[in-house]
Amino acid sequence: MRGIFKDVPPELWRSYRWQVQNRIRTKEELKRYIRLTPEEEEGIDRTDGLYPMAITPYYLSLMNPEDPQDPIRLQAVPRVEEVDQNLQALGEPDPFREEGNIPGLTHRYPDRVLFTLTTFCAVYCRHCMRKRIFQEGERARTKEEIDRFVEYLKAHLEVKEVLLSGGEPLSVSEEKLQYVLSRIREVPHVEIIRIGTRLPVLAPQRFFDAELLRLLERYSPIWLNTHFNHPKEITEESAEAVENLLKHGVPVNNQTVLLKGVNDHPQVMLRLMRELLRIKVRPVYLFHCDPVKGAMHFRTGLEKGLEIMEYLRGRISGMGIPTYAVDLPGGRGKVPVMPNYLFKKEDHTYTFRSPFGPLVEYHIPDA
Ligand SMILES: *Cc1c(COP(=O)(O)O)cnc(C)c1O
Repeated sequence: MRGIFKDVPPELWRSYRWQVQNRIRTKEELKRYIRLTPEEEEGIDRTDGLYPMAITPYYLSLMNPEDPQDPIRLQAVPRVEEVDQNLQALGEPDPFREEGNIPGLTHRYPDRVLFTLTTFCAVYCRHCMRKRIFQEGERARTKEEIDRFVEYLKAHLEVKEVLLSGGEPLSVSEEKLQYVLSRIREVPHVEIIRIGTRLPVLAPQRFFDAELLRLLERYSPIWLNTHFNHPKEITEESAEAVENLLKHGVPVNNQTVLLKGVNDHPQVMLRLMRELLRIKVRPVYLFHCDPVKGAMHFRTGLEKGLEIMEYLRGRISGMGIPTYAVDLPGGRGKVPVMPNYLFKKEDHTYTFRSPFGPLVEYHIPDA
């Protein structure tokens, strides 16, 4: 699996710190590992200073070095499309109005509050929904910022769930993580903590660390939502990371984003959902790609998502079928989009389409 990194000793390869310290950040470094196309080289040059690049050796090792259309490569190597004026014109830096009065805090749904803990990421995904923060440099929230957030929580009794996101929330030091988790647990009405992290995909070695796992267990109930987009991302290492989380009482869910060229294919999506179930990750959402400036070239039509949802139904366990959802602009919330199976209704007869063929009539007399 490790290909170009096969000579790295296992104790280094299995270290999260090593993976982060050895991130590939320049064109010259990347050229040592993969054959870049002129178009990719131009992409790296023109996004420089605007949308930086960082790739862990682990994530890089999943790429096909000879295939510019490789789904891992499309998610991690900059392209000129990111700065194409025409393509990006309709995108917005912050389509969901996440930025408010308290730094890092977004309170959209009454019961859930989102808090971004840091702008640092192990890998800067080219399709990131918070691409605007690439320009803020790599900085974690200070204790004072965390304190302001906790004060807000204490004043809002309706909040039942805290969502820690980023950047990459699990990239902060154990000390800071301990601080934020223990302070959230001072607030009695907060029932669950959800951590949105892509580290199981980008640097699963993070979850080979016993200290981190104990920390997550101590502040239970903690739910972890991750972001697998392609079956190639499911490896022995990512499966081991998930297993460790489950052993420490942390359920692992997944949110996929529908991305042109990466996973906009029914068979690919079916394989992804199957592989997720095999490593005991529940696929919760399939998100339509957001209108974010710098990521517009990844968007497909809504029909593509509907086609995929139709294909999944009947071919995989119900546990493997995510909710396809669109996040409405302006912070109006997420809405599900579903293929319609109720074909028509006449008096007491409902007619359904079936994944297995002809229309089926279903009678419900007056209840
Ligand atoms: C997506 C999102 C949530 C969580 O929504 P779920 O449907 O529970 O996943 C919470 N707050 C904000 C601001 C969000 O964008």
